[in-house]
Amino acid sequence: MKNEQIVLAKRPEGLPGDDVFRFEDTEVAQPSDGEALIKPLYISVDPYMRGRMSDAKSYVAPYELDKPLQGHIVGEVMESKDDALKEGDHVVGVLPWQRYITVTTDRVSKIQNTDVPLHLYLSTLGMTGQTAYHGLLKIGQPKEGETVVVSAASGAVGSVVGQIAKIKGARVVGIAGGDEKVRYLTETLGFDAGVDYKADDFEEAFEAAVPDGVDVYFENVGGEVSDVVFKHLNKFARVPVCGTISSYNNTEADIGPRIQGVLVKTQALMQGFIVGNYSDDFETAGKELAEWVQNDRIHTEVSIEEGFENVPKAFINLFEGKNFGKQVVKI
Ligand code: NDP
Repeated sequence: MKNEQIVLAKRPEGLPGDDVFRFEDTEVAQPSDGEALIKPLYISVDPYMRGRMSDAKSYVAPYELDKPLQGHIVGEVMESKDDALKEGDHVVGVLPWQRYITVTTDRVSKIQNTDVPLHLYLSTLGMTGQTAYHGLLKIGQPKEGETVVVSAASGAVGSVVGQIAKIKGARVVGIAGGDEKVRYLTETLGFDAGVDYKADDFEEAFEAAVPDGVDVYFENVGGEVSDVVFKHLNKFARVPVCGTISSYNNTEADIGPRIQGVLVKTQALMQGFIVGNYSDDFETAGKELAEWVQNDRIHTEVSIEEGFENVPKAFINLFEGKNFGKQVVKI
């Protein structure tokens, strides 16, 4: 049976173009004992993948040139040579970008509750939901009545951060690009305020939105947006640094105001983290996130691109803010 995969053709400089990806025909590998053949239903594209396309030292190994890219995928088992899985089961795991995937069954987790849309296992009930949960609650530690600010607020991580902060009784201010996303923050997600960082009056509008300063800043974007937020940090503020998407395609170092003086004056805590740090608590967090989803306390927006051939395009769109909520590709 014919197979197709998307490999890393070259390491990008700046925003990845189409030439970074190459589609290659291969054969489907028949599963051996302990393996399953999986057909992807939804492929997740995520900003962190941009980092893995470079060969700079990081917390995770770079993607290899001429090898398939990989990331979180929800799929259906077509054939299994392991009692742990049977045909028709739904699974999630970090898997190669291929039309058919043959892997040992320990590379995937079986999805137990299939009553919810399956793509939620790539967002709120998956990696990005876990990122929001642990970064906010373990590092941000919002208290009732405090002001929590989150950037990339309408996206996969940011939208969940803001909604959990509301559940915890905080006042929530989201920063996003454009009117439509900002309206969505207050009208659909229930944030207290939304600010458009692309508007000319961003700095004034932000100041007006945080009259009591900022107690928690959940950092998703870095760059000039965060330079503005840092001016408003309160004493003992907490800044979970989740990502800095504004710099992922930079070809030169992003030099801004130095932050150390602000940290001393405010005695704020700024801590980088990766979601994998909290894997011991994934099960407990997953149950709580699922309860919030089922009780309509967390709403998830999803942008669904269709077709394996559009995976690269969906990935590139993340850096132009073309996604609304979690970006996935339906295969
Ligand atoms: P999103 O769903 O939020 O999509 C990315 C969004 O980032 C875009 O929609 C866009 O929103 C915004 N954006 C893109 N370019 C810029 C820019 N130059 N300046 C400001 N905003 C920009 O992605 P995720 O929720 O998956 O990821 C959010 C952040 O979390 C990323 O930095 C990512 O790397 C990080 N992350 C970190 C993890 C960890 O373990 N530490 C795990 C998962 C994600 P808009 O239209 O509003 O500009």
